[in-house]
Order: sequence, then C-alpha cells, then structure tokens
Amino acid sequence: MADLPAREAMEFDVVIVGAGPSGLASAIRLKQINPDISVVVVEKGSEVGAHILSGAVIDPVALDRLLPDWRSEDTPIKTKVTDDRFYWLGTSGAVRLPNFALPPLMGNHGNFIVSLGNVCRWLAGKAEALGVEIYPGFAATEVLFDEASGAVAGVATGDMGVGKNGEPKDNFTRGMELRAKYTLFGEGARGNLGKQLIARFGLAQGCEPQKFGLGLKELWQIKPDKHRAGLVQHSFGWPLGNATGGGSFLYHFDEDLVSVGFVVYLNYTNPYLSPFDEFQRFKTHPLVRDTFAEGKRLAYGARALTEGGYQSVPKLSFPGGVLIGCDAGFMNVPRIKGSHNAMFSGMLAAEAAAAALGEGRSHDELAAYEASWRSSPIGKDLWKVRNAKPLWSKLGTFAGVTFGGFDMWTNTFGFSLFGTLKHGKPDYATLKPAAQCTPIAYPKPDGKLTFDRLSSVFLSNTNHEEDQPVHLRVADLGEQKTSEHDVFAGPSARYCPAGVYEWVEEGGSPKYVINAQNCVHCKTCDIKDPNQNITWVPPEGGGGPNYPNM
Ligand SMILES: Cc1cc2nc3c(=O)[nH]c(=O)nc-3n(C[C@H](O)[C@H](O)[C@H](O)COP(=O)(O)OP(=O)(O)OC[C@H]3O[C@@H](n4cnc5c(N)ncnc54)[C@H](O)[C@@H]3O)c2cc1C
Ligand code: SF4
Repeated sequence: MADLPAREAMEFDVVIVGAGPSGLASAIRLKQINPDISVVVVEKGSEVGAHILSGAVIDPVALDRLLPDWRSEDTPIKTKVTDDRFYWLGTSGAVRLPNFALPPLMGNHGNFIVSLGNVCRWLAGKAEALGVEIYPGFAATEVLFDEASGAVAGVATGDMGVGKNGEPKDNFTRGMELRAKYTLFGEGARGNLGKQLIARFGLAQGCEPQKFGLGLKELWQIKPDKHRAGLVQHSFGWPLGNATGGGSFLYHFDEDLVSVGFVVYLNYTNPYLSPFDEFQRFKTHPLVRDTFAEGKRLAYGARALTEGGYQSVPKLSFPGGVLIGCDAGFMNVPRIKGSHNAMFSGMLAAEAAAAALGEGRSHDELAAYEASWRSSPIGKDLWKVRNAKPLWSKLGTFAGVTFGGFDMWTNTFGFSLFGTLKHGKPDYATLKPAAQCTPIAYPKPDGKLTFDRLSSVFLSNTNHEEDQPVHLRVADLGEQKTSEHDVFAGPSARYCPAGVYEWVEEGGSPKYVINAQNCVHCKTCDIKDPNQNITWVPPEGGGGPNYPNM
C-alpha cells in the first residue's frame, strides 16, 4: 500500500478489546472501583451483541457479584430453569439419565436461559451509564508495543476503505491508535490478537494445548403448545459415533423461543465429517423433532468454544496487558458454561488494573491477576472438571462420559483417582488422511426441519464489504492443494459452517475458492486446518454476522 498518513492516537487508562461478558464486566468493575479511570471498549460487531453466539444457560454467580441488584431491574434475564434433562441418544431411542446420578456441579437449577447477545447489550448500557466509552464497528487489528520496553501499549483499529487489491479506495479512513496503560484482551475463543500475544510472550509454555469445539445454533419460534418455558435439555451420543465427541443443547425460553444447538469437538479424526450436517441430522431425532413441527427458524450461527479447561489456561499477564474470558480459555466444558467465568475474569483483571493504576503504575505485568485466578471461583470451577475432556478424548464418548462423571463426583469430594490428565495433540493434528477414512453420506435437507448452509448463513444476517482484502489468509496455497486437498480431501468445505471454502474444478485442476463474505467469524478454520495454513484476521470493522438475539 502507498505511504499512509500517521494514525491519530487517543490515550486511556484501560483499553478493552471485545464487548463480550468478559470485556463488559471488566469495564463496569473498573468504573465501580474508580469512576475517574478512563476506559474504552472496542467491538468488531456492528453493535454490541452482533457477534455474540452462545447457548445460553447462565450461572448468575458472577452477575450477582458484579451487579447485586440486577434481579430487581428490567433485564433480558427472564426465564429461570425449571426442568433439567440429560439424555443418551441412540439412532431412534433415548435414555434419560436420572438427575441424582449426575454430579451436582452439572445441575442447572438456579440458572437462567437467555440470549447472551441481549445480556451483553444490557451490560453495555450499564457500562456506558458509568462513563465507559464503547466503540462498536471497530476491530482491533494490531497490538501496539512500546518500542523501548516491548510492553503492550494499546491497540490500533483497522483501516477502513481498503480495496481487495490492498490499495486505499475513495472512502479510505486510517485506523485509530488507542493507547493505554493497561490493555485487556477479551476477544473470546481463539482471539486473533490473543493468539499473537500467546506466541510473542510464550504464554502457553508448560501448559497443555488449548482444545476447541465448534458450536452451531439455531433460534426457533415454536408452537405455544410445544413450549415448556424453563426446560433445559442436553444430549450426547447419536448422530455422532462413539469416537467423535460432542452433544446437543435445547433450551425453551422467553415467549415460545427455543435455542437448539450442537457442539462437535474439534479433535475429530475423519475429514469427511461435517459438523453442520451432524447438527441438521440431530434435529430429526424422535426425541426432539416434534418440538419444531410448524415452527419457524429465526436465526442461525456458529462459534468456536474453548474446551481445554484448567490445564490449558496460558499465563494470563504480560507487560502492559492481560487475557480475559475465553481469550484465556475459561470455559467449563461439561457444564457448557463460560460466561460466568468470563465475567469473573474480567472483574479480577479490573481489580488488578485499578490497584496498579492507583499505585501510579503502568505498562507492567498485572501479576496480581495471574496469581489470583486459581484460588478464585474460576479456578475452583475448572479444577473439578479438569479430567472430563481428556477422558472423553481418550476413552470415546460412552466410557469417557461414564468415567468423566465418576471423576467429577470424586472431585466434588475433593479428590481424583486420575490426578490431572493431559489432552495430547492440538486439534489441527488429529485429522487422519482421507484414504484411511470412510466418506459420510448426509441426508438432503428438507427445507422445513433441516437446511443447507447458504439458507442458514442468510439467517445470520452476515454482511461484509465485498471490496476488501480477504480476511482468511492462506499462507501457502500450494500446500493447501498438496495437503488439505490431496491428502485430507478438503475438510474446510465441511468444517466451515458458513460455506466459505470450496474446491472447484477449473481447467481440469482443483481451485481453492474462499467466499469470505459468508464468514460468521467462528474461527474454526484457524483452529482445524491440518497444516495451520489458514489465519483468520479481523475484516473491516462492523463486518460479519448481525445476530439479533443469539
Ligand atoms: C454454542 C455455544 C454455546 C454456549 N453455551 C453456553 C451456555 O449455555 N452458558 C454459558 O455460560 N456459556 C456458554 N457458552 C460459552 C460462552 O458463550 C463464552 O464462555 C462467553 O461468551 C465468553 O465470553 P468472552 O467475553 O470471553 O468472549 P465472547 O463472548 O466471545 O465475546 C468476545 C467479543 O469480542 C469481540 N471481538 C473479538 N475480537 C475482536 C477484535 N479484534 N476487535 C474488536 N472486537 C473483537 C467479539 O465480536 C465479541 O463481541 C457457549 C458458547 C458457544 C459457542
Ligand atoms: S471461514 Fe473460518 S471463521 Fe469464517 S465461518 Fe468459515 S470456518 Fe468460521
């Protein structure tokens, strides 16, 4: 690109990347502690909540601490869990596991069914009322470093109005530098800047690789006579085979709304597997299919979630900044809950930052945050379930869930027979060559209960400026052909839940096509590409899905 004008810079005490539960909780906590601390939050979605996709059954434990009076206010947290069911699914039958057999930590009574996007919108209002500046539509694309000390000094937002060819267009606007004494990174699972910081500061040294799942979700308006407000239903088993981890969720909430979703663990081995099609198949199971009869699908989306838990949490602090929420990997996988830990971590980071600012410090390590998480509610929550995911991976779903359940029970009483198990390989290294695997024939969608990718992406309201550089960066197109295509039979066309990747025949040879405008920012390609050849980078701010209430 031609020589660019210098970026304008703004100075703050604290810059927060991402208006998810972690970022917003930290912003609110900072202002609660000291209203004079200047705080800005940048959010790549067109508005707060536009890129939030979650189940979501939330454990209000962190919210109770952050905003103790929330229950007496008008909030989007309305449906209390009243019925909590867990099923093992076979091809046509289902066995309900009795609630008394489940470890108490798996219980959902006292929790609430929500749209996490709407909760974030509400939290953003709270933050703004306290004086936090929130800039939606601005992606942080670059970490700024202090040249002399190497400490993180803030972030820069991306330039707007850059063409496909990388050259400025007529509407070109230079990004902004948001400089801060401390920068909190709350980008969620597989944050792009978080990934760079983990590598630069060696934050993951000595811990297990982070593990991930891909969560797909639809929001349905169903017939009132089928709605059971407060019903929470989870399953494992069919349609996945015993060797592939994952499961479903189905939550009845608000006025005749149902959130239905499916998570596939990204350590699966068969490159022919399509998480999207597994989700569509799941909805046809006799246990759930009637729920959707004569109903209307309102929204669709997908997002990766972290699954490594306790042993995969990297070092959180580095000079000038910290990782919070799922950027650090605080998701509790067996509970499928991360929003409470995201909020707790935002609060802990805020408390450490406020204390440091109070002492006149800046750009150093917030060691108090790093030191506090293991003994905090986050550490206690994750410690008890630390062996569940490794047991599922090693033993397969049936034995893994049995032994994982047993281990969570013993952990309830303070001990484990397994110690702390390792995860093994990172998810990108688990695919087998296609020649060793059997192709999977998925049924055709019927357009009523099951759908194809493109009509689904339409319901995510995804929109990107078309004339901009492709934000899915393939480092080596040659390797994509010789390995991704020739050895693994092009798994990106199947794992991408938005139909972004295609191998098409052109002049007798396969050509890799990237329909970047469809991308729902789930980050799966960045995680699962077998050669780590694809990097997701933030597109022009405001681009991506526009989830109304996911
Ligand atoms: C399918 C699914 C089901 C789940 N179910 C539950 C559940 O039932 N209960 C529960 O508690 N948890 C659940 N979770 C987990 C929960 O959603 C996460 O733990 C939680 O959202 C993490 O919060 P966060 O603030 O760390 O990140 P996110 O919620 O991911 O928020 C990150 C925000 O940062 C923004 N952002 C990212 N990068 C940038 C950038 N470079 N510049 C600017 N903005 C950026 C994003 O747009 C987003 O708004 C589920 C997750 C999934 C995917
Ligand atoms: S291109 Fe990558 S990040 Fe975008 S939707 Fe597909 S898998 Fe997800």
